[in-house]
Amino acid sequence: MFIDIAKITLKAGDGGAGAVSFHREKYVSAGGPDGGDGGRGGNIIFVEDTNLSTLADFRYKRKYKAGNGENGSKKRCSGKSGCDLVIRVPRGTLIKDAENGRILADISGEAPVIVAKGGKGGWGNAHFATPTRQVPRFSKPGIPGESIEAVLELKLLADVGLLGFPNVGKSTLISVVSEAKPDIANYHFTTLSPVLGVVRVGEEQSFVMADIPGLIEGASDGAGLGHKFLRHVDRCRLLVHVVDVSGIEGRDAIEDFNTINAELQKYSEELAERPQIVAANKCDIASLEDVGRFRGYIEKLGLPFFEISAATGSGTRELIFEVAKHLLRLPPIKEYEREEIPLSEMESKAKNEFTVTKQDGVYIVDADWLGFVLGSVNMDDYESLQYFQRVLRNSGIIAKLEEMGVNEGDTVSILDFEFEYLK
Ligand code: GDP
Ligand code: MG
Repeated sequence: MFIDIAKITLKAGDGGAGAVSFHREKYVSAGGPDGGDGGRGGNIIFVEDTNLSTLADFRYKRKYKAGNGENGSKKRCSGKSGCDLVIRVPRGTLIKDAENGRILADISGEAPVIVAKGGKGGWGNAHFATPTRQVPRFSKPGIPGESIEAVLELKLLADVGLLGFPNVGKSTLISVVSEAKPDIANYHFTTLSPVLGVVRVGEEQSFVMADIPGLIEGASDGAGLGHKFLRHVDRCRLLVHVVDVSGIEGRDAIEDFNTINAELQKYSEELAERPQIVAANKCDIASLEDVGRFRGYIEKLGLPFFEISAATGSGTRELIFEVAKHLLRLPPIKEYEREEIPLSEMESKAKNEFTVTKQDGVYIVDADWLGFVLGSVNMDDYESLQYFQRVLRNSGIIAKLEEMGVNEGDTVSILDFEFEYLK
């Protein structure tokens, strides 16, 4: 079975905690702090594997986790970083955030992409010694690794997509113009998974053609097979619309042509505007009159028109040369960009609710959205910390702490972090 969509869970590794420890040596009474930092959590990295053609593997294994960073230890020993996890996917796999549909990555090239970031390790107490604070008895916990519900969606990378009703001869065509060997049979829906073939045009040029399973009417409403496959023509630079002009199926060529285009339109306006070349197939058994009528109709629309017989091969070379000529002028295969969360959305999250409680003299701040903000804050960076303070102030958390009587030097705990309150 051809699987081109899957939902999986990604959990990048958590950062290890920093250590609290003090230097001990014979005859040295009060050694300085020597707690090492925690190690970084492992990332989850996606990479393309051109030997894979479906997402079938992801039906069975749905949870993916990278290694956690180890905790720091004494003598300033940093914890080991967690192991990265590399996930191999077919070329053309989009990775989306299941929560909001945002595109996180498009695995359409050789470069590996980090999709879920491991958390940073926390600082050990050795980091916190200052002239006025020589005995820091605290360290920082590590930051949790990103966890993402991800949808994988395969969108094949092909220059040219074949479009048309079942049985019009798409598979036959790709088998004569490329090395691909799809199933060919005289019944509907034979092609249940897309087939890619490399078409060579002389010495210099070649392009990739995709044979997409046939569309059926109503497919764009999800009525049946076809809609599901339309995503694979999404990236195509050009469509070859194959139409059976023989009438052997009892249908009319002009009607077929319009039906398919209406389906395309319903699925995506953008796709409907993709350049099309019309290939009138089965000319070997079609009447001259029928072919002529269809040709007249298509030419009036201003589209390139080719009479072919995929079965005998006649006219296919001319078609291929025309396709190659168009491709030289068309933009490259579409690649998707990562979609960042807009700043306005981040800020609106920052206006969300929070609670502050006091336990054993520690102020505990709780707010889901803060994890999101904390994840993006670099504690080593002044500006980043300023930003974090601003968030705390703007959201009213600082006002609340003051209302509860927080004093200079009190401990404030936010998620896994502990801060000393400074006015
Ligand atoms: P697809 O469903 O569009 O992929 O169609 P296929 O390539 O599987 O072809 C369906 C049937 O039409 C098969 O029996 C083919 O042998 C036949 N066929 C395809 N092209 C031609 C053609 O040019 N002439 C004739 N006479 N038959 C063809
Ligand atoms: Mg087929």
